[in-house]
Amino acid sequence: MTAQKKEKGGSGGRVPEGPVELIVLGSGDAFGSGGRNHTAFLVNLPSWGFLLDCGATTLITLKRLNLDPGAIGAILISHLHGDHIAGIPFLFLQYQFLTERQEPLIIAGPAGTEQCIEGLWGLMYKETREMMPRRFTVQYLELEPKKWTRIGPIEAFPLEVVHHLRGIPYGYKVKAGGKVLGYSGDTEWTDNLIELAEGCDLFICESYRYDRKIRFHMSYEDIRAHRSALKCKRLLLTHLHADALARLQDFEDEVAYDGMRVSL
Ligand SMILES: [Zn+2]
Ligand SMILES: [Zn+2]
Repeated sequence: MTAQKKEKGGSGGRVPEGPVELIVLGSGDAFGSGGRNHTAFLVNLPSWGFLLDCGATTLITLKRLNLDPGAIGAILISHLHGDHIAGIPFLFLQYQFLTERQEPLIIAGPAGTEQCIEGLWGLMYKETREMMPRRFTVQYLELEPKKWTRIGPIEAFPLEVVHHLRGIPYGYKVKAGGKVLGYSGDTEWTDNLIELAEGCDLFICESYRYDRKIRFHMSYEDIRAHRSALKCKRLLLTHLHADALARLQDFEDEVAYDGMRVSL
């Protein structure tokens, strides 16, 4: 019933160089602490854009910032928690009824991504998924860890992080427009973060709590303890709990906010 494809790889050729801009669409936690949006980062290349995660608030934020949802070529998913993926069915709705897409939307993530996203779409808009021909194409890529994969004009390298017990949560290193971007996803401290951050122009790293230790997330204390091992040009902290937001003045590293723009 759909024109859905499942393929490995993407278009061939060199990763083109050009200006790269990151727009923070969501820097909050799952609880919406501080009124912040769920996690999503838009990365714009000259003629193509992709999302790092797509929390529930993504489409609303794109519209608030006057950004074109149709310009998103791919979504890279770190893991399958709702504050990172629940915006995807709303994008599907947009592409079904409002924005005509010519190019397929590539959704890349860990094993289980296709089943999870299609299941979520069916739960949220059952009649649209089951009774209408899909007016856009989705190409799912379930990525293998520690392997560079071309996704449109970018390349992505997923590395396992430590966030939950079922499935594999990923952090990413991404080559885009001659720049290197790193993203921790949600995770407690793991030495894999050192590899993800190394050589990055920008490394986006979760810093959920300020100093409280909890399983599967980091605190700013953890980051401070390992700061010298993170060999990135610029570090940007995100996914903040209320206790971290209450201590913003004590952070010695840059903290993301919704609507922030970073030129790389
Ligand atoms: Zn999570
Ligand atoms: Zn999260």
